[in-house]
Amino acid sequence: MIIFLKPTCGIEGPELANINAYLEKFPGVRIKPVEFQGETRTVIEVHLIGQTHNIPIDAIEQMRGVERVIRVSTKYRQIGRHEAGISPIGFMYQGLHFDQDSFHIVAGPCAVDTPEYTEMLFKFLQGVGVTTARMGAYKPRTSPYDFQGHGAACLPWVFELAGKYGIKAIAMEVLKEQHIEELFNTLEACGRPTGVILQIGTRNAQNFELLKAVGSQKEFPVLYKRGMGLTLEESLNACEYIASEGNNKIIFCLRGAKTQLGAPHRNLVDFIHVPVVKRLTRLPVCIDPSHSVGRRDMAPDGILDIFHASAQGVVTGANMILVECHPEPDAALCDSQQALNFSQMEQFIEDMQAVRETYAKRVAIANRALVRQMS
Ligand code: PEP
Ligand code: MN
Repeated sequence: MIIFLKPTCGIEGPELANINAYLEKFPGVRIKPVEFQGETRTVIEVHLIGQTHNIPIDAIEQMRGVERVIRVSTKYRQIGRHEAGISPIGFMYQGLHFDQDSFHIVAGPCAVDTPEYTEMLFKFLQGVGVTTARMGAYKPRTSPYDFQGHGAACLPWVFELAGKYGIKAIAMEVLKEQHIEELFNTLEACGRPTGVILQIGTRNAQNFELLKAVGSQKEFPVLYKRGMGLTLEESLNACEYIASEGNNKIIFCLRGAKTQLGAPHRNLVDFIHVPVVKRLTRLPVCIDPSHSVGRRDMAPDGILDIFHASAQGVVTGANMILVECHPEPDAALCDSQQALNFSQMEQFIEDMQAVRETYAKRVAIANRALVRQMS
């Protein structure tokens, strides 16, 4: 059961204390207030877990500060929409808003390499108006002999350079709990010139201890990548682990499924799941065309497959694109075959803005049709 409080109520307010006191009458019910910080408002939900069947909805709906009460299915308790009435409010981070209506391009190399390339990238992103970057310091690689990332050693200069060029947040993969502490401590030591979005890579999509670790901290949002061989349901349940630990700043990322059926692409593009995830959950949805397509091939129309795949996700409402980009792709230490160079990246941004406008037109057409059907 979820009790939605009115926007005027605070987490320390008398309304919540009153509700808590009333619920004490019902043994076996755990009460968990959850705060959602949206762009224009903060919403408090009181989640009731356990034996809630005896709790009368009507009585609670009459209580001071209560907007409404719903019974939820056991599936996706925290991240789910449950009924069409729950409108996701998203979250704020570093002055950026993330929800099911927002749109961000997150670009950068697979892995941090040199300070020179990193500075070139940030400078380029600033020039094209992008304030969100990606780059791994900790890289999980298929072969133990491949470059594993510079680790904590590169973080101070990466953060300082990011701050210098107005990068507000960098998506960085973490492989274990210690990496979260290293990111936090380095950001603190540098005076927080930028922010970090913790990335859970596809290889850790069901590493439940890691999911609990990113879920039990509230400092950083989490970009969760769908497991390459997991069903959508399995991956959404994994996200629920993050939320159930208290962190609801989650973005769900589609990055293609591993099967030979996607060849010659690296993975089979699964971006038609964008509207599905938006329907089932309140999470903003990201697409990763770089790891889905995995190569810079161009179609006869002059457009790269990476762009075409991205268009599939954006035209169906994706809220974020995670795309690999490097000043000299052939020199990248990881995934060099799929990174865009700067001129391709500029074209990509323009292309995706056009596709996003098409999506907005499609939504307007749908809204007009709904109005016609209702009249
Ligand atoms: C990445 O984004 O750097 C990455 C390793 O992606 P994935 O976990 O989807 O393979
Ligand atoms: Mn990569």
